[in-house]
Amino acid sequence: MDKIVALCKRRGFLFQSSEIYGGINGFWDYGPMGVELKRNLKNAWWEDMIQAHNDLDVLPGAPEAYSMTGIDSTIIMHPQVWKCSGHYDLFHDMMQSCQHCKKLFRADHVAGLLTESEWVASLKKHVVEFTELKEAVAFEPNELQRWLEKKAKNVAPGLAAIHDIPGFMERIRTAVAGGSVSAGELLQLLGSPLGGSLALPCPACGGLLNAPREFNLMFQTYTGALQSEENMAFLRPETAQGIFVNFKNVMDSSRYSLPLGIAQIGKSFRNEITPRNFTFRSREFEQMEIEFFCHPNQSSDWYRYWRDRRMQWYLDLGMRKDRLILREHETSELAHYSVGTADIEYAFPFLPPGEFGELEGIAHRGDFDLRSHMEGKLDEKQRPLKVQLNENGQPKYRGSGKDLSYRDPITNEKYIPHVIEPSAGADRGTLAFLCEAYYEDQAPDENGEMQTRVVMRFHPRLAPIKAAIFPLVKKDGMPELAKEIYLALKKHWVVFYDEKGAVGRRYRRQDEAGTPYCITVDGQTLQDRTVTIRDRDSLEQVRIPMDGIVEEIGKRLRR
Ligand code: ATP
Repeated sequence: MDKIVALCKRRGFLFQSSEIYGGINGFWDYGPMGVELKRNLKNAWWEDMIQAHNDLDVLPGAPEAYSMTGIDSTIIMHPQVWKCSGHYDLFHDMMQSCQHCKKLFRADHVAGLLTESEWVASLKKHVVEFTELKEAVAFEPNELQRWLEKKAKNVAPGLAAIHDIPGFMERIRTAVAGGSVSAGELLQLLGSPLGGSLALPCPACGGLLNAPREFNLMFQTYTGALQSEENMAFLRPETAQGIFVNFKNVMDSSRYSLPLGIAQIGKSFRNEITPRNFTFRSREFEQMEIEFFCHPNQSSDWYRYWRDRRMQWYLDLGMRKDRLILREHETSELAHYSVGTADIEYAFPFLPPGEFGELEGIAHRGDFDLRSHMEGKLDEKQRPLKVQLNENGQPKYRGSGKDLSYRDPITNEKYIPHVIEPSAGADRGTLAFLCEAYYEDQAPDENGEMQTRVVMRFHPRLAPIKAAIFPLVKKDGMPELAKEIYLALKKHWVVFYDEKGAVGRRYRRQDEAGTPYCITVDGQTLQDRTVTIRDRDSLEQVRIPMDGIVEEIGKRLRR
């Protein structure tokens, strides 16, 4: 992962936001390469799901033919949207603060953070007296016990081990039956929950953590000049609600009938307590969401269709099968209104082997969202919570009162549609494709000697630059011909012209940027107007007529 992070900065994929001021946690900027990569991912999603969608035929796995369309709604919406959607009351994480260093942690992340080397490093500060003594030497368990009983109680009162010293000692004696353990292993054992029931220490300093409490993840702001309760507004934590509240507008203004999917790509904001793992958990990020409206009798079939279709989409863009899983949620994990939810998860390299991180969730949401916006926020039995009043005596969860149901134009049946929601993260997707693309292999350098090269094997549709054009040397009319090719290709794709340095080095730079094709103008081009085209992955070079280059690149990109 460190290599990927370094490449992202070096080659202009990703930068920390406001870096010259020391950065701001949880916010990331895309550089010249990153912006193209992410745009290509969003375009591929929009093209495949919406624009090029075949609405005339029944697609394999689909119960019937269906339509797709899009909207672009605002980030700030009427605050009632969030009250009825449930986000105002329920969109929170449990948070813990440290009594000693005051740092904040997401409660369900504390255990995970404990295994990280940065935690081990900071914990080390507190147990330095013991570990310095013991570094790389066999340790004496009785000595460890004395240290825990005396010193550790003061320097690291939250250490899991301290809460049950006899139990811990018994376990550590078994774990290190031979009596030898490295300092690093020892630190991990000291901090690990040992059965899970003991209090976990602060991952930053080893101090005591306060009991978990709720923390709402929505960013708040105010509309207008007065910072009053009535003017309070929220930055959307998901794009989905913009689709639900526009469902009626779309139906009334178009000739679509159900089944219909309405899609949106846009920024969402969550005040994540512990943003981490590069862009995986950011505070500002982009989502690509579809709300698919259908008849309740068919919603289970549609759920399965979308789950499988979305999984296949990642595979078609080059993700390896063994790094991607479709995880169906257990019934106990499902929201009360849902008959199914599945996550598409990717084996991000920052996770321990065998663990996967969510890329996209596909949820069967029943009629929950449309009904909430009609009737007000629903309770767990799907009854509107109309009676709750706010401080001014107004109903707190009043719905819009609008009829958001649908009347079938053929059967005349009236119903509240069910919704299937495939909800993907554009930034998490971009990160996964960056990780997936990174390869190190052996390739000959400019002197023909085999060297390790870093190559980003992006699917050609995702590659930020589609082709690079080089004159072999900066003279003899070669730059003129290369520029001619460059200008012809530039009308269609993002391409790059480079005449500086040895050609081998120019190839390497493009390999690192993931450019699938390099076109070189050489001495022979001057005679017969043919050029070489080099394939990034196979390293194969073939000669083709320069006048057919636009068709050739087009053909290769469509493969
Ligand atoms: P997590 O459990 O990882 O917090 P979630 O289940 O809350 O994610 P959803 O609400 O289902 O996520 O959001 C849909 C998608 O939006 C996720 O699959 C992910 O790709 C993306 N996403 C959600 N939160 C973030 C974030 N903080 N940073 C980047 N992408 C995010």
